[in-house]
Amino acid sequence: MKTFEIAVFQGDGIGPEIMAPTTDLLAELAAGGGYDLAFNDAPAGAAHYRETGESFPAASMETARAADAILLSAMGLPDVRYPDGTEISPQIDLRKALTLFAGVRPVTIRPGQPTPLALTGGQSVDFVLIRESTEGLFYTQGRGEVEANEARETLRITRAISEPLFRFAFDLAASRKAAGRGPGHVTCVDKANVFRAFAFFREMFDAEATRHPDIKADHAYVDATALWMVEKPWMFDVMVTENMFGDILSDLGAGLMGGLGLAPSADIGHDHAVFQPCHGSAPDIAGQGIANPMAMILSAAMMLDWLGERHGVDAMKADGARLRDAVERVVAERRVLTRDLGGSAGTAEVAQAVRGALA
Ligand code: NAD
Repeated sequence: MKTFEIAVFQGDGIGPEIMAPTTDLLAELAAGGGYDLAFNDAPAGAAHYRETGESFPAASMETARAADAILLSAMGLPDVRYPDGTEISPQIDLRKALTLFAGVRPVTIRPGQPTPLALTGGQSVDFVLIRESTEGLFYTQGRGEVEANEARETLRITRAISEPLFRFAFDLAASRKAAGRGPGHVTCVDKANVFRAFAFFREMFDAEATRHPDIKADHAYVDATALWMVEKPWMFDVMVTENMFGDILSDLGAGLMGGLGLAPSADIGHDHAVFQPCHGSAPDIAGQGIANPMAMILSAAMMLDWLGERHGVDAMKADGARLRDAVERVVAERRVLTRDLGGSAGTAEVAQAVRGALA
């Protein structure tokens, strides 16, 4: 039996508090599912920098590189900074070092979930936003040119990144369709009516679409997409977009989901993937045992999906779905929820409720 090596970044603030129950759940699922997970601690982050002067030790990067998958809680503390004033963020270093081009941000709204949308009659929302995460308008991040009366940043779109990005989007739509989670539909979100770089982006999307005749492909302008995500979010299945557009739309998606407490994510490349909640280290509530572990647990479910798909282990895929269903059941019951979701339970109680809801 293969042992899957999981690099674990406990992180800062509430990070260790939400990671511990998550790895406990994963270990329990693995024991029952007949696959093996080994958790390898990778120290890094703001607290580690404060204690040792090092934010991301080479040994931790090595642990990440050697792993089958990487679990990360959240890193950074607003009052711990490098001498140049910027924050410690190994999660961004990982994205660059491992070329994690596909930022996967599921947006799901299930019954019982607090949402600003007025959904009627058991309507639910379930789509995935894929944010390209290595280039686009972030290409010159930290290197923009600023003169007395002018500033410039460069938007970069490459074939080397876009082609695998679109392949990933269509493959995801196909696997969602096979799992009964979507109709098999990919939307390219761009601004091809105004910018040549986006016409190039769209051309590569269309070329990939021809290879997937059983998946519907269409386009939407980013401004209209923001409107439709609020007006009729059920029209989306998988959407794929440039880095900055995706940065903005993924926060809109988290807003639709009723906040960050239920928003998981994955950053996926050719050979590596990081799974982490969308939220940060929440230093304002750290150490109190009240952090919501659900986004971390849902990120772990995405990891099981990805590992199961990649290595052909059906039990892992099934456990990913079980874990997600269990969280959704606890949310729908509305009995054991943390404060951010309107309840009064602590982290441990919520994790226990999820464990109890595993079918
Ligand atoms: P944050 O997401 O940590 O917190 C925003 C608000 O949401 C806070 O009120 C917090 O208490 C609440 N919150 C967040 N997660 C929660 C959870 N699981 N349960 C209950 N409440 C939760 O954002 P911030 O305050 O802007 O950032 C704090 C630190 O985290 C900063 O140092 C920032 O750089 C870092 N950060 C890290 C990541 C990452 O590791 N991927 C992402 C965003 C921010």
